[in-house]
Amino acid sequence: MNRRSAPQGRIAYVDGRYITHSSASVHVEDRGLQFADSVYEVCAVSDGLLMDEEGHLTRLERSLGELSMEMPMPRSALKAVMRETMRRNRLKDGLLYLQVTRGAYRRDHLIPQRARESLIITARSIDPQTYEMKRAEGIAVATFPDIRWGRCDIKTTGLLPNVLAKTKARRAGAYEAWLIDSKGLITEGASTNAWIVSEDNVLITRELTANILAGVTRAGVITALSRAGINAVEERAFTLNEAYAAREAFITSASGGVIPVVRIDGRSVGKGKPGPMAARLHSLYRELSLSEARMGQGNGARTTG
Ligand code: PLP
Repeated sequence: MNRRSAPQGRIAYVDGRYITHSSASVHVEDRGLQFADSVYEVCAVSDGLLMDEEGHLTRLERSLGELSMEMPMPRSALKAVMRETMRRNRLKDGLLYLQVTRGAYRRDHLIPQRARESLIITARSIDPQTYEMKRAEGIAVATFPDIRWGRCDIKTTGLLPNVLAKTKARRAGAYEAWLIDSKGLITEGASTNAWIVSEDNVLITRELTANILAGVTRAGVITALSRAGINAVEERAFTLNEAYAAREAFITSASGGVIPVVRIDGRSVGKGKPGPMAARLHSLYRELSLSEARMGQGNGARTTG
């Protein structure tokens, strides 16, 4: 393979080998494919830097541990493979996707005793302007019942409810779906954490339980806020009516950072335009994460999840 001519995002790492994306594959009996018996992480790459790397690897290790799986290799080796995948794809801005499956076995619901995990890493270039435009204009969200399982804190590839909700949201003209639990409280987005800013400028986002994913970006925003001396965060569930009445709303994720929400179910949030809080939080978060990435630290100390 001619590495120099490899187009961006087209070299995948699968179990010790770097291969062209089009020929990368897993076994038909892979338990990730058969049972969604696999976990994943998505790390942003910005200007060639891996953002919040330690936080993502800590969460990967936790997700694996909750399912009695092991890290496929020591963290230092994994970091080296991640960097080599970036290098081979000449990834400057975009996403690095990691997936660990329990591996291929004869199909059986019972979890096999012997570990034979598979590690897949792919890279994808994304023009940073894509998210900057969303940040400038704001996005719409649409709400749907949260029909997911009871362990949303584990980042498994069992994402069908998320996929269905996001697709319905897009068909309804919204960018993201916000999921609502049986008590009428927002849990999180289909692939983001959900936040609102109350009338008295308190930032509200759901507390960490098994009902939501502990977003690495969510944690980064909370740390950036406290470093800036802003102690106006309330980690608690909020209702849909609170969201409709919010001064501002926004989503957080590794891919987009902080993105303002300007419409919920067709109703304008606040003035119907991106507000100052979301913009401030994004720059505080980004400054902190970039400086940590430059120092090779990457949000390790802050991830609870
Ligand atoms: N919630 C869900 C369900 C997600 O899938 C994601 C990201 O994929 C997030 C929240 C945001 O997490 P992070 O900030 O670590 O990207």
